[in-house]
Amino acid sequence: AFLSVEGLDGSGKGTQIERLSDALDRWGFEVVHTREPGGTPIGEKIRDILLDRENTGMTDITEALLYAASRAQHVREKILPAVKEGKVVLCDRFLDSSVAYQGGGRQLGIDEILKINAPAVENTLPALTVYLDINHREALRRRCAASEPDRMEMEADSFHARVEEGYHELIARDPKRFVVVDATKSRDEIAAEIQEKVLTRLME
Ligand code: C5P
Repeated sequence: AFLSVEGLDGSGKGTQIERLSDALDRWGFEVVHTREPGGTPIGEKIRDILLDRENTGMTDITEALLYAASRAQHVREKILPAVKEGKVVLCDRFLDSSVAYQGGGRQLGIDEILKINAPAVENTLPALTVYLDINHREALRRRCAASEPDRMEMEADSFHARVEEGYHELIARDPKRFVVVDATKSRDEIAAEIQEKVLTRLME
């Protein structure tokens, strides 16, 4: 099975992926925990280029294509082989992040991003996507409280508002794929809710 986890920076995605990965492990699944951008040697190199965006004058379309390139390698080198071996692939961000950040945030458009990514993903899409739902203002407040300034912090508030909107549009288009969890609950509550919903889906 192929599962992804999505959410705004500050949604608590990292913590919850760890918790879900441990739970899947306890339940006896062989888990491959991976991330985007990155996940392969080429992907990690592309990640370094992407995270240096500010210093290099990268254009928005270049950024979108680099994410797609990283994804093309990730799908073929890591995700598909693991799924074929019967493992559970747990991916920290996938195509939805591109749609939300580059399509929504950078305003390249949802359909344009899907078009760019078509040859990268072909038919490889997550069977289930956990979305950690948080308002962009609350996510920003958390990032500041945790004093984890990153490149995205510099972006205008409207950027994150558009990213959030992008995610909601995706959920509206394909509600069955998403497990939407209220990310403002306690860590334990969120972890329990995700585990219950994911296990139910995996057993279907
Ligand atoms: O989730 P993670 O912290 O690894 O993401 C790294 C950075 O890349 C974050 O700031 C995230 O918002 C950004 N990102 C992006 N577009 C994507 C995926 C991630 O701008 N498609």
